[in-house]
Amino acid sequence: MRIILMGPPGAGKGTQAEVLTKRLNIPHISTGDMFRKAVKEGTPLGMEAKRYMDSGRLVPDEVTVGIVKERLAEEDCQNGFLLDGFPRTVPQADALERTLQELGVKIDRVINIDVDKDALLKRLTGRRVCKSCGATFHIDYKPSREGNKCEFCHGELYQRSDDSEFTVANRLAVYAEQTAPLIEYYERKGLLLNIAGDTEVETVTQNILKALGSV
Ligand code: AMP
Repeated sequence: MRIILMGPPGAGKGTQAEVLTKRLNIPHISTGDMFRKAVKEGTPLGMEAKRYMDSGRLVPDEVTVGIVKERLAEEDCQNGFLLDGFPRTVPQADALERTLQELGVKIDRVINIDVDKDALLKRLTGRRVCKSCGATFHIDYKPSREGNKCEFCHGELYQRSDDSEFTVANRLAVYAEQTAPLIEYYERKGLLLNIAGDTEVETVTQNILKALGSV
C-alpha cells in the first residue's frame, strides 16, 4: 500500500506512522526525520536544512523533492511505503506525482489527521524527546516516569529546537498557507480520508486502519 500521512504539525503523524508502518509492513519515510538525521551528522544537507528548520520554515522544494526521489527508488519501497510530512506544498505534490509516474505506481490513499489549533500548540510546546533513543514524551499528556530522563534508556530529554513557542507559531502559519491547500488537492483526486486526531492514539490508529480497509 502507498500512503501519504498528512496533518498539521503536532497532529500525531510521527506516532501514527510508526504504528501503521509496523502493522502494514511498509517503510516509514519521514522527511523531518531525514533532515534531523542529516543535521545530527553535520552533512551539507543537514547544515542547509537546519537554517530553515530552526525558524519553522520549509526546506526548499528542490532539496526536499531530491531526497524523497532517491529514497523512493530504493528496493524496500517497491511494495509500498508511508510518506510522513511529505508532500507539504503543491509543487512537492506535483513532483511526487511525476516521480511515481516514472516508477509506474500510484498513491492509494491520503490520510489527513485533523486536530484543532489550540490543541496543536499545547501538544507541540510540551513535547520532549530522548537524546539517546528518540522516544517521545509530553510534559502533560505522557510524562516520563523518570522526570526529565527517558524512562526506557535513561537518556536526557530535550525540547526540539523547532518546538519552541515562537517556532511552533511559525510552523502552524506555514502549514495553513502552504500545506493545507493539499487537502483540497487530494480531495479532488478522490484520495483523501479525513480522520479525527483529537482522541486516544490507539483510537486514531484503529480509525485509520478501518478507513484503509485493513481491519
Ligand atoms: P516534521 O518533523 O515533519 O515536523 O519536520 C520538521 C521540519 O523539517 C519542518 O518544520 C521543515 O523545516 C522540515 N521539513 C520536513 N518535511 C518537509 C517538507 N516536505 N518540505 C519542506 N520542509 C520539510
